[in-house]
Amino acid sequence: MIHPTAMENDLSLVYRILDQTPIGVVILTPLRAIRYVNFYGVRIFGTDRRALMGSSIDSALIDCPGERGWLELWSSVITGREGETMIAISRPAGDQVTCSLTAFFLPAHGEDEEAVVLIIKDQTSELRVADQLEKKNIEMAKMNTELIRSNVELKRLAEMKSNFLSIASHELKTPLTSIKGYSDIIIDAMRDRLDEGVYRMIESINRAADRLHKVIDNILDVTRIEQKKLRLKPEIFDLCEAARDCIEEVNQVAAKRQIAFTCLFADDVPEFCGDRQRMQQVFTNLFTNAIKFSPDGSTVDVSITREDGEQIHIEVVDRGIGIDRVEHKHIFDPFYEVGDIRRHSTDQIKFLGSGTGLGLSIAKGIVERHNGRIWVESEGMKPSEFPGSQFHIVLPMNPALGSDNFEREFNSGDAAGGEILHVKTEADSEEKLGILLIDSDRETVEVARMVLENAFEVIAAPTSEFGLSLAFQYSPSVILIDTLLPGLDAFRLCSLLRSQEETRETPIIFLSSVTDREEIEKCFAAGGSDFLIKPFSGRELIQKIWQTLMKKKTEAYT
Ligand code: ADP
Repeated sequence: MIHPTAMENDLSLVYRILDQTPIGVVILTPLRAIRYVNFYGVRIFGTDRRALMGSSIDSALIDCPGERGWLELWSSVITGREGETMIAISRPAGDQVTCSLTAFFLPAHGEDEEAVVLIIKDQTSELRVADQLEKKNIEMAKMNTELIRSNVELKRLAEMKSNFLSIASHELKTPLTSIKGYSDIIIDAMRDRLDEGVYRMIESINRAADRLHKVIDNILDVTRIEQKKLRLKPEIFDLCEAARDCIEEVNQVAAKRQIAFTCLFADDVPEFCGDRQRMQQVFTNLFTNAIKFSPDGSTVDVSITREDGEQIHIEVVDRGIGIDRVEHKHIFDPFYEVGDIRRHSTDQIKFLGSGTGLGLSIAKGIVERHNGRIWVESEGMKPSEFPGSQFHIVLPMNPALGSDNFEREFNSGDAAGGEILHVKTEADSEEKLGILLIDSDRETVEVARMVLENAFEVIAAPTSEFGLSLAFQYSPSVILIDTLLPGLDAFRLCSLLRSQEETRETPIIFLSSVTDREEIEKCFAAGGSDFLIKPFSGRELIQKIWQTLMKKKTEAYT
């Protein structure tokens, strides 16, 4: 049997524990009078224990809209069920706290009459935080919608700007062709009929037309880069040789200013697979800048080295006026020039003629299309001290020119659902048909390129594997395959192309040096459309391509 004093002690311990519990505990009589309230409960009611004890709880409780009402909850709990709701408690100071309330029934026990226990938790601060969070969420959602809207608008404007530039440039090209053409004729054929003054003027018109042509081409390139339409014509070539050709080109201008180029080309630089013409454009832009911003009599060092085994590092180092650090990023933006170009003048040199601010942005676009990086290092612009600038390009040895690099024109919507305006430009309609030549013999590729380039866009691949990926990425109109390819067998390659949706219908012409019947049968058995015996003339090649294309067209109509 438990001693009465021990029981009293236990009860007092329970009350002490309840007073320490950070949750309101209230015991009600069956008439809803407060029989007990713990310390935390007293705090929630905002009064003192004496005022609460024995008073009815009803006057302090206010039902919350949309929640179960207090008297409804009571009528269920008093019959022995448990229930919960959200309730507001009005406090003597005039304020209210919002609480969660759980109630359960305690049946009579010995001398203790039946009772109802309330567990009350003040939720006011949680609700306030939740409320604030909700408001913030709504604000953010609104801002997000606004951002998406402006993003769509910005994209639309950028697209319109690009389209405008592209259309304007093409419209300028047509009259320019006449200006250039006629002034060429006058210079070549009518020189002796003109007096010297007029002749000089015509020469000047001719040079101006050339300059304008270059500017228009640059604008078109920037537009292509911005619209992700810069196409590459990959081939395997020697980057050092390409750089040397460009130095030779700019040497005339450099020599006039006694600027000398030095070359440091490492022996182990491997051949590079990329667009030779475009990479030469990068070199020319860097070299002409180096000349333009360097004093007379200085030197420009060009080095090409192999780095970390897998990369090619190109450096163009001048001893010119330098570039401020804050400008290092911006100079690669289209139309960006550092300050007023006339400020670059020093006692030693006047940097005549400003550019268009397009050279470096085009260089960046081309390098990035080859999955490379371009950046500049320079101590800052100090025109009188000539700290110089170092331009760096790092190219992967195998650029894995992905589908991005051969992107076809597309009308795209965007993620937010906004329609992007795409105006068809003259360039679009001038699209040449693409020819993919898969041949490991460089001479054949060179000859074919020369012969076909006027009428077709030629892409070359030296191996079956590379050819296969180009065929899927570029969707050429005709594929030419040499029967003697290294790696994957040429006939197997043809069968593979035939088995794929993208290339199932593409005419495939085999180029073969073997004339026996067996070889020809193998060509057709693999799915080839025709074959051409090596060596072939340019005319034969063009004829064969057109014949195959016409045949495909006729078949499509019958
Ligand atoms: P632009 O075609 O007008 O030369 P770029 O895009 O090639 O334009 O260059 C942008 C700007 O970067 C130039 O106007 C020039 O201020 C600065 N810049 C480029 N190359 C050099 C260099 N080698 N030395 C100093 N400044 C340079």
